Amino acid sequence: MRNSIKLFRVLGIEVGLDYSWFLIFGLLTWTLASQLFPKVDWRWSPAFTWTLAVVTSLLFFISVLAHEFGHSAVALLSGVPVRRITLFFFGGIAEIAREPRRAFDEFLIAAAGPLVSLILAVGFGTLWLFGFLLGVRSLTALGGWLGGINLSLALFNLIPGFPLDGGRMLRALVWGLTGSFHRATHIAARLGQGIAYIFIFVGILRAFQGNWTEGIWIAFIGWFLMNAATQSVQQLALRDLLRGFTARDVMTTDCVSVPPQLTLDVLVDQMVMPTGRRCFPVIEDDHLVGLVTLHRIKGARRDKWRETHVRDIMIPRDEMITARPDEPLEAIFERMTSDGVNQLPVVDEDGHMIGLVARDNVISFLRTRAELAA
Ligand SMILES: [Zn+2]
Repeated sequence: MRNSIKLFRVLGIEVGLDYSWFLIFGLLTWTLASQLFPKVDWRWSPAFTWTLAVVTSLLFFISVLAHEFGHSAVALLSGVPVRRITLFFFGGIAEIAREPRRAFDEFLIAAAGPLVSLILAVGFGTLWLFGFLLGVRSLTALGGWLGGINLSLALFNLIPGFPLDGGRMLRALVWGLTGSFHRATHIAARLGQGIAYIFIFVGILRAFQGNWTEGIWIAFIGWFLMNAATQSVQQLALRDLLRGFTARDVMTTDCVSVPPQLTLDVLVDQMVMPTGRRCFPVIEDDHLVGLVTLHRIKGARRDKWRETHVRDIMIPRDEMITARPDEPLEAIFERMTSDGVNQLPVVDEDGHMIGLVARDNVISFLRTRAELAA
C-alpha cells in the first residue's frame, strides 16, 4: 500500500508519488517522443521532440494532481479533512479522512475532480486552437494531446460505478433521495461491479478481434474497477456486522497488566512466553500509564533486556490511542485500520483502563456471529 515517496505538503495535505508512476512517466514520455510527436513534424530534432515529450508528461502529471486537488479543495471547504494525495499509475487518490456527513457535500466533492479535468481540457483545447491558427505545431501537439487526455480523464471518472467519481455522485444522489447512505452505497457499488464486468467483457472481445493491447488495457481497467467495487461491498458488509456494538461488547477484561519498573527479561520470561499475549497495559497506582507491545519489545536490544525497563520502551499514555467503552465498534475498527494499530485500550472517564479491544477479538466476535447466523 505504501509504496510511495513524499513529494511535498500543501494545505496540510501530503502529496505522494507511487513508484509505479515512474514507470508510467517513462513509458508515456517514450511513447510521445518516439511514436506520436514525430508524426506531427518529422523535421524536429530528437532533442526538441524529447523535451516536448517530457514537458507534456509533466503537464499530464500536474493535470492529474489538479483533478485530485479539485476533490480535496471542496472537501476542505465542506469541513472534511484530507490526509494525503497519492498519484499512481493511471490516476490519483485523494484520501479523505472520513465520509462526508451530507449527501450534497459528497456530490460536490465527487464532481469537483471531473470538473477540473474538463476545465483543463478546454484550456489545452484553446492552446491547440492557438497553435493551429498561428501554425505552431509544437503547440498543437502538446495542447491536442493534453486536451484529449484531460477530456478522457473527466469522462472515464464520470462513469457511474462506485468508487469512480461518477459512482460517488450517483451514490450522493440516491443518498439524498432515499436518505439511506447504506442503500446508496450498495446500489452504487453493485453498479460499479456491473460496469467492471462490461469492461472486462469488451476487453476480452477486443483482444479476440486482434486488438491485443487495447483489449488487455480495457480488461485491466475492468479488473481494477472490479477490485475497488468489491472492496466497497465487503467493507459495507463488515460495517453491517459491526453495527450496534460498542467497545464494551467485545473488549477483553482479563488483561494482564505490568508495572513500569519491570525489566524486559522478566517480562518476556514470565509474561509473554507463558501467555502468548502480544500486548500489555502498563499500570502504575491503578492508572494506565502506557502500553508495551511485542513490536516494541522486539525493537529493544536483546543483550540489554536485563537493564531495560518497561517504562523505557512503552508507548506513553499521551501518545496512545484509546477507545471509550461506549464507542461504536464501527468507529473503532475504522480507527484501527487508518492508524495501523492492532489493539486499543478501553479507558473510562477517570483514566482507568477497563479492557482491551484487539483486532483478533473483533474478528473472532464477527466469526462467531456469522456462524450462528448461518
Ligand atoms: Zn476523481
